[in-house]
Amino acid sequence: MKVLKFGGTSVGTIDNMNAVMKIVTDGEKKIIVLSAMSGTTNDLIEISDYFAKDNKDEAQSKINRLENKYKKIIKSLYKTKEKEEEASVYIKKSFKKIKSYLSEDFDENGKNAIIGQGELMSTAMFSILMNENGNDTKLLPALDFMRIDENKTANVHTIKKLLLDVIEKTGDAKYYVTQGFICRNDQGEIDNLQRGGSDYSASLIGAAIDAEEIQIWTDIDGIHNNDPRFVKNTKKIEYLSFNEAAELAYFGAKILHPQTILPAKLHNIPVRLKDTMKPDDSGTLISSEVQGSGIKAVAAKDGITAIKIRSSHMLLAYGFLKNIFEIFEFFKTPIDMISTSEVAVSLTIDETKKLDGIVKELKEYGNVIVDKNMTIICIVGNIIAEEKGFAGKVFSALEGIPIRMISYGGSRYNISILIPTDQKQKTLQAISDHILNQPG
Ligand code: ASP
Ligand code: MG
Repeated sequence: MKVLKFGGTSVGTIDNMNAVMKIVTDGEKKIIVLSAMSGTTNDLIEISDYFAKDNKDEAQSKINRLENKYKKIIKSLYKTKEKEEEASVYIKKSFKKIKSYLSEDFDENGKNAIIGQGELMSTAMFSILMNENGNDTKLLPALDFMRIDENKTANVHTIKKLLLDVIEKTGDAKYYVTQGFICRNDQGEIDNLQRGGSDYSASLIGAAIDAEEIQIWTDIDGIHNNDPRFVKNTKKIEYLSFNEAAELAYFGAKILHPQTILPAKLHNIPVRLKDTMKPDDSGTLISSEVQGSGIKAVAAKDGITAIKIRSSHMLLAYGFLKNIFEIFEFFKTPIDMISTSEVAVSLTIDETKKLDGIVKELKEYGNVIVDKNMTIICIVGNIIAEEKGFAGKVFSALEGIPIRMISYGGSRYNISILIPTDQKQKTLQAISDHILNQPG
């Protein structure tokens, strides 16, 4: 069985929902994972922000606008009054939940309950559409099987057990539709897999049912070799290995939620990225196979903070790095890049909530310098670091770029470079011109 996930734009209009129906109804049994209609999660976050500020008037008027939008959509989506009525029951239920915070206390649980309604509505609307058109479809409630633990981590084995139960209870159907993004946490409360988390839902479900393939359908034709928002003439990549794709997804390629690759990789299930508007296009295939060599793509991750610690006394004495790392561990802040010299260590983080505490502790060990607004440029491929001339090629492409840090040879799949964010466009373009678009 395959798992097909469709993003917000793919279900964002009536035409697109019909396009999705055409894609999925090929007679093969499958699980279809949907995001909320595009814009809805943002709207729901805005509403919960108003509740958080106790601005009930603004919350109410935003809710009304969103509810009217949904009422209008279901009026035109269905051929029959009966199906419109059926969908309106779901829509009303979601808005009743959202409006309940006009009179009830609001907290983090309220926020998660509100922002989860987008997926509940899109999946209800879509499965009713499928059935109206004679496609045997049933809803699988994600809140009954998608779980995260106290560390916000999902466990495939738990999900598998629960999902198989839910499928059995739901009964046989050709097409199962379920919500991406939403889950329950260890307290049983509604929670989610973070923004863009529907991709991750699809991958967890794929791993849980040992799917033949996980397909992520979006509004572009696959992963490109450079960021099309900043660079012209980017090209779609046909094949990537799990490791290459994981580096790209983590380091900024917005197309895929960063955690998506891991469950697929561990269960060796190919992931295919496809374009809803060009269903015949092969997309990008991500699998365990490593194809080709050399640099394949580059991605950029903004919002990086660099921290340099210059050791005051015993230089890099034994135990120094351990002490430094323990501080980051204590503050539960992951380190992305690291480079060391005899007297100093530089590292980067993208989670800065605990920065003040970290810096205070680090000062015990030396002089600390913090640089914000940095960008990691991640060059990905099947890179043979030892290959003669390889480093030279990268360095000459980056001539004139003020590089703050480099990580080379740490993994076979990536070279990371830290630059000030204002140099990003120039750097991406230079890599395109001198490496990616060079023959050979
Ligand atoms: N609807 C959620 C979001 O906008 C999840 C997703 O689209 O993947 O972040
Ligand atoms: Mg997405």
